[in-house]
Amino acid sequence: SKDKQVALVTGGNRGIGYELVKQLALNGFRVILASRDPETGHAAVQKLKESNLDVSVVVMDVDNQESIRQSAITVNERYGRLDVLINNAGVYLDKNEKLLNLEPSILEGTMATNFFGAYYVMNSFMPLMEKQGYGRIINVSSEYGAMSELSYQGVGAYKLSKLALNGLTRLVAAEIKGDIKINAVDPGWVSSDMGGPSAPRTPKQAAESILWLATIGPEGPSGKFFRDGKQIPW
Ligand code: NDP
Repeated sequence: SKDKQVALVTGGNRGIGYELVKQLALNGFRVILASRDPETGHAAVQKLKESNLDVSVVVMDVDNQESIRQSAITVNERYGRLDVLINNAGVYLDKNEKLLNLEPSILEGTMATNFFGAYYVMNSFMPLMEKQGYGRIINVSSEYGAMSELSYQGVGAYKLSKLALNGLTRLVAAEIKGDIKINAVDPGWVSSDMGGPSAPRTPKQAAESILWLATIGPEGPSGKFFRDGKQIPW
């Protein structure tokens, strides 16, 4: 099993992240479920292990650079490689305020997790991918971060964070060398704690619509934005 590919999912303890972990494991990956909370992380891994899935936990708070760096050291020591990285952890803190009236904690907290979190995770894990000249990075973004969708009101911090994440995806894709791909994806409106109970898609469907990007070949896309396997405009 040393040859198995290794995948890491941030915010893997619940919602879409948990389904991504499960499906990656079902598809033959050794999966690292990253969770900021040790207890919910361990509980989620325990549940998956009952189905004989190859999953382990690492504690990672993406708001905390030291926590991210420590996780990268742990992954390197434990596996010595990382093939797939999914930046899934995210928050939705807006309370229907105009962008310029936001409480600083809402604006900064949203950017800290949804943008800087993904930034520092890539910053810390890219060396592992560069070492092997291979990697597949998926940034779980949102249609809300598309330029064409910016007219909606009341979710300004969230939109800005995903817009920035999309920009980061393109810029990093343009500077990467070797067979390392980085793409952004919109999972659709998904029933989870964030999406709420009336959302039409299950986390399972969302994960299925995302995971093809984990196994694209050397000719596959990079620096692009997708929903349901189709490219969508930034
Ligand atoms: P949930 O709220 O159900 O889960 C969010 C996950 O992110 C949890 O595991 C949570 O951990 C984790 N998380 C939040 N902050 C941090 C942090 N600082 N460090 C580490 N982990 C953190 O959301 P979803 O599963 O619905 O969303 C997953 C992704 O999909 C997000 O990026 C979201 O923006 C995106 N998305 C979701 C849509 C939807 O309709 N649901 C639509 C479009 C995009 P904890 O349990 O500790 O809080």
